[in-house]
Amino acid sequence: MQKWYLQAVVRVYGPWTVSQTISARERALAIRRVRHATDALADLDARFPGTASGTGRAEVHDHSGMVPVTRDCPLACLGLSRHAANPLRSHLRDRVTVGQVLRLWEDNELQHVRGLGPRRIGEITTALIAAGFVLTPHSHG
Ligand SMILES: [Zn+2]
Repeated sequence: MQKWYLQAVVRVYGPWTVSQTISARERALAIRRVRHATDALADLDARFPGTASGTGRAEVHDHSGMVPVTRDCPLACLGLSRHAANPLRSHLRDRVTVGQVLRLWEDNELQHVRGLGPRRIGEITTALIAAGFVLTPHSHG
């Protein structure tokens, strides 16, 4: 399995995991594919630590091995692009943790964060799933 392929799977199916225009079954399939790909990616990173995509910032933990991301982790542990991370930081003000982002997601509040569009929300969702959190969206009937 190639790393670029797995990353492409995550990129393509990530936004699907929150799409309102597809059926619940398709959404479940997308979540499964993203999970599978991120698992395989974590595997690759564990086997070849040198290729891990971490940027070496001081506040980030090393989650490339078996260490899970927790709600108490700083936002940086999700590995978001700055386009997704900066709006979250200015919205939440304090030291931003993964748990706070999870709360925003669960309360359907991400769409109210200034500067976050559907694509960035998709990125954040994918990152939360990749970090191993099970996301349960509020149903819209
Ligand atoms: Zn962490």
